[in-house]
Amino acid sequence: MNINQTKDIRTANRIKIIDAIIKNKEISRVEISKAANLNKATISTIVKEWIDLNIITETELGSSSGGRKPIMLMQNPNAGYCIAIDIGVTKIKVIITNLCNEIKETYNIPLVTNQFVTNYKQLYTYLDKVISAMDPSPYGIIGIGISVRGVVDLEGVIRNVPILKWKNIDIRSLLIDRYHVPVFVNNDGNLMALAEQENNNQYDNFAVISITDVISTGLVINGKLLQGHHGFANAIGHHTINFTETAQCSCGKYGCWEQYCSNDAVINQMNQLIDKPISRIQEFIAMVKIQDPSAMIVLNQFIKNLAIGIDNIIFVLDCEVIIINSEIVSALPYIISEVLKNTVLPITQTQDIFISQLGEDAAILGASKHCIYNFYTELANHPKYD
Ligand SMILES: [Zn+2]
Repeated sequence: MNINQTKDIRTANRIKIIDAIIKNKEISRVEISKAANLNKATISTIVKEWIDLNIITETELGSSSGGRKPIMLMQNPNAGYCIAIDIGVTKIKVIITNLCNEIKETYNIPLVTNQFVTNYKQLYTYLDKVISAMDPSPYGIIGIGISVRGVVDLEGVIRNVPILKWKNIDIRSLLIDRYHVPVFVNNDGNLMALAEQENNNQYDNFAVISITDVISTGLVINGKLLQGHHGFANAIGHHTINFTETAQCSCGKYGCWEQYCSNDAVINQMNQLIDKPISRIQEFIAMVKIQDPSAMIVLNQFIKNLAIGIDNIIFVLDCEVIIINSEIVSALPYIISEVLKNTVLPITQTQDIFISQLGEDAAILGASKHCIYNFYTELANHPKYD
């Protein structure tokens, strides 16, 4: 959490303590004292506040022949629930998490039409139902986080989802008006970057590339998410890598990176070479594994095109690492060294590329994590303590 946003030292200390508990899952007061560099009296006071608020719990004293076991502190996972929504290309995925960001329920709404009004109605019908059936908890729904595979401005307005043809949709206000809880909307690449930052906190400068039906990226520079003046800084999937392309991208331009390296692009390239068309990226991967000649042609092209985009990212950002979240790369990890061979920069000697461990839920879990942190920060700032 960013303690610069807190009002005073006491609030900052509350956040340090809950942060230490979240990171360690179970931690004693003595260990918090070392981790957060706080004295015992401060820890004792603040831990009591968090326990009184039902936010943390402590273990019972265990009996042990080897001496007294320390009392361990942990989050109360069921003090509240978070809703996270991933607006994809073919479906809207909804998850309900507890405050430990563990998924308790998943629901998928197929996008059978591009009409926002229809999709939104299906979404709130489900949310109304799930919220009314939810087990009672001290805080109920603590927030809604939304991940969008498109352009979102800094106010959380969806400016453009090219594939769905959605423009200027203020879903944040609609959901706040209906549910009266904090709502956060961000681009999926940004949320993935936040989730990766949590998992890889040794890096302050990195790029996340997510390859699905589209290409999404998230950029962290000097430890902070790079969103730009309007919030569109990470739309790297739509930077041009081929000036001679005649087919139009969903964004309206020609020759975007996404037109060559998204899963859809790879499937289309395969279908131009084979008689029996494929529809899923897993079919392409299976064909590569048996060295199907057409699949190998497409894979080599994919490696070259991926390297072009990565080169461009490196030239602009000079990041420490690039994290790739892609079914193709995860299934065929040896292609990373081939991609690196195809990057032709004098500054790439120190560049590292590795595969994300977060899988397909990276963005949606980034959205719920953001909500949960915001909830704790708001509680830590709450004036009722002071
Ligand atoms: Zn484009």
